[in-house]
Amino acid sequence: MTDTPLTLFNSLTRKVEPFAPVHAGEARVYTCGPTVYNYPHIGNMRAYVFADVLGRTLSFKGFKLTHIINITDVGHLTDDADDGEDKMEKMASEKAQSIWDVAQHYTQAYWADVKALNIREPAKWSVATDYIKEMLEFARSIADKHCYQCETGLYFDVTTVEDYGRLARAVTEDGAEETRGRIDTVEGKRNAADFAIWRKTPAGETRQMEWDSPWGKGAPGWHLECSVMGEKLLGFPFDIHTGGIDHREIHHPNEIAQNQAFCGCGGLSDARNSGANIWMHNNFLVERSGKMSKSSGEFLRLQLLLDKGYHPLAYRMMCLQAHYRSELEFSWKGLDAALTRIKRMVMMVERLGDAPPQPVAEHPKFASALAKFETAISDDLGTPIALTALEDALAVKKVDAGIKRAVIEHMDAVLGLGLFDLTREALRIRPKDAQTSETEIEDALARRKAARAKKDFAASDAIRDELAAQHVDVMDGDPLGWEWKLT
Ligand code: AMP
Ligand code: ZN
Repeated sequence: MTDTPLTLFNSLTRKVEPFAPVHAGEARVYTCGPTVYNYPHIGNMRAYVFADVLGRTLSFKGFKLTHIINITDVGHLTDDADDGEDKMEKMASEKAQSIWDVAQHYTQAYWADVKALNIREPAKWSVATDYIKEMLEFARSIADKHCYQCETGLYFDVTTVEDYGRLARAVTEDGAEETRGRIDTVEGKRNAADFAIWRKTPAGETRQMEWDSPWGKGAPGWHLECSVMGEKLLGFPFDIHTGGIDHREIHHPNEIAQNQAFCGCGGLSDARNSGANIWMHNNFLVERSGKMSKSSGEFLRLQLLLDKGYHPLAYRMMCLQAHYRSELEFSWKGLDAALTRIKRMVMMVERLGDAPPQPVAEHPKFASALAKFETAISDDLGTPIALTALEDALAVKKVDAGIKRAVIEHMDAVLGLGLFDLTREALRIRPKDAQTSETEIEDALARRKAARAKKDFAASDAIRDELAAQHVDVMDGDPLGWEWKLT
């Protein structure tokens, strides 16, 4: 276990708090996973890069990590506050496919992105539809005291628990209450913020996904799923619950209300009554032109980045360069810079050759980089500074390559860039629409080199122009030694 205590920002208390595990030596983390009705966009993936860095940091600190990420394949409506259609049903009917096939396809696509971004596999991917029985039991146990039925299903009465919405109110940091425009369209709802924990199938209709329940045939509400899987797989209270910042508004306050009901209704001055000791939220990746929206044609998926010639780990680097609680603005220029930065690191690492790693001893030359890294990452996951500590370590000169390798591996275990598995070639991805093959480029460059050797600068320039016309930028004297790149 490393020395500096880990502190994390708790959205529930609005404070940076020391991490004190519920079970000594362990860390139990639940992350709200994707709704698998469409491909994830890169903003969604920021949420999992953040959760991954959190998990890696907990492991780095010596805690035995149990991380759960769920897959939502039922119940998430087009509006988080119980309005609209089930996202899965909607997509399945648009594609004229079964929901199960839709879920299968997009779960696989999500897992491919997870892998490409070096996000570690959690202990379990919990799939919502595998927990229907447990959801019914949970709902039954709180129904009498906290729920009521109306035409469309079983609703949770938010006035039956103390402090409802405390997490959402935290959004206005000055403590002023947010007046959120909750849609109050459901007939028979007692309070605008009440939410469905079981949605009845309307009379005369059949849904592709529906189950029998004491409240009629239907499907669970989205918020119920996460409460139930968190409780079943990690036990209340567990250590940390994560999600994107939008979940502070509705999804997590509703989960918390259910958890309070399940745990005996204590107020939220004691965080344990919320089901988890710490609630953490990553801020959004934003893109001004609206390409982040899944409803826009060419939305920003990881595959689009690859098609344009960016290695997925350049995007991971981009995420690490911002603190998870800051908004991150996406731009291609920013992604270029992140790619250059990771290339630079890979080049330095390649220079270390195959030196066998030595133990990360108290080597004086690395002491300050290691201390800087440790302090940064322990301070609410300060990845931007941790990256500079890694660069400091890479820049240390006249030192045993094996020790350096060990120090870099030590830091990369948290950052997850996989620097020792990357190569320059792997980072040089050809955009999908590139016309010229790599061999053609290399041939042209060899001809150009020969022309320059003969001081035939006219020929050399002509080849350069030829390549530029094919979007190949020749980079003479490039400090990275990359020689060419596709533009
Ligand atoms: P969803 O599949 O819509 O449930 O979203 C999956 C995760 O992505 C959730 O944790 C969201 O809070 C998070 N998320 C959605 N949009 C963004 C974004 N633009 N930037 C960062 N996280 C996001
Ligand atoms: Zn959730």
